[in-house]
Amino acid sequence: MKKTISLIMMVVLILSYVTGSFAGTLAKFERNSSTDWTLRSDLKHMGSTSTTYKITEYTRPINVEVFFTAAGINKWGCISSTQCTYDKDSTVGEIYFDDGDVQVPYVARVTINANTSGHINKWKIKIFRDNYYNRSENEQQPAYMAHAFGLAYGLEPMITNGAMNKSISGDLPGLGTNSYIPESEKMGMKIVTHQHLHGTTGNYTYSEPTSTQHKVSCSDCNSYFLQNHTATYTSLGATGHRVTKCTHCTYSSTKTEPHTFTYRSGRYYCNSCDYSTTDPGGGTT
Ligand SMILES: [Zn+2]
Ligand SMILES: [Zn+2]
Ligand SMILES: [Zn+2]
Ligand SMILES: [Zn+2]
Repeated sequence: MKKTISLIMMVVLILSYVTGSFAGTLAKFERNSSTDWTLRSDLKHMGSTSTTYKITEYTRPINVEVFFTAAGINKWGCISSTQCTYDKDSTVGEIYFDDGDVQVPYVARVTINANTSGHINKWKIKIFRDNYYNRSENEQQPAYMAHAFGLAYGLEPMITNGAMNKSISGDLPGLGTNSYIPESEKMGMKIVTHQHLHGTTGNYTYSEPTSTQHKVSCSDCNSYFLQNHTATYTSLGATGHRVTKCTHCTYSSTKTEPHTFTYRSGRYYCNSCDYSTTDPGGGTT
């Protein structure tokens, strides 16, 4: 029965493989147990709020733009319909209806292509016409549009709660006319569009130090990333310096390291502490 077909079956991602390396800014967004969004495992993502789309004319239903705008875009809140714009000549996004006699359990199928930076430069939402019109016009159809829109931007269905999950299980609770996408999932959209980034400042807490890294947890999006310690050093004179303490976390070490020097105006200055000498000895430079 169509209504009970699982989330996984309802909307299927077809991965479009590209060659080349991924720049990897989204590698700084790791899920923890309270993170209510999921990025694609290959991290392909829109990288911007702006995109354009066309709707293939030949079987275009009269209401699809309304639903795509009202549900697909506006329900996400963090993208506006002036950023995701209809352009009849778009070579980026396409929404089209499969008009054939399709016997598939899907409402829509989303495919994407990305450039070598991982940014989505082509996306398609193929809607299986009969299955789409089996859904209620004011609740389920916009919900599927919202769901497909999330997939086209680089989000994946949730394993636990959340709209991306709900929108493909059964009757799509949470995404009807009067419903909303939870803030936690909108944060996922902010991540795939670079509206939320992890940089040098943020609402971070630092924990779980190892000898090389600590964990940086972001309280805005409930994700974390690993970062190398930023150390402070105490000079031990000619024998080296001591790594005393990470400037972010509680890590400290009594390990003594040899100085490494930069030569400047007749003296060798340690690159890490305040020690300097005219003769570093041992061939150290
Ligand atoms: Zn990016
Ligand atoms: Zn964050
Ligand atoms: Zn640290
Ligand atoms: Zn030093």
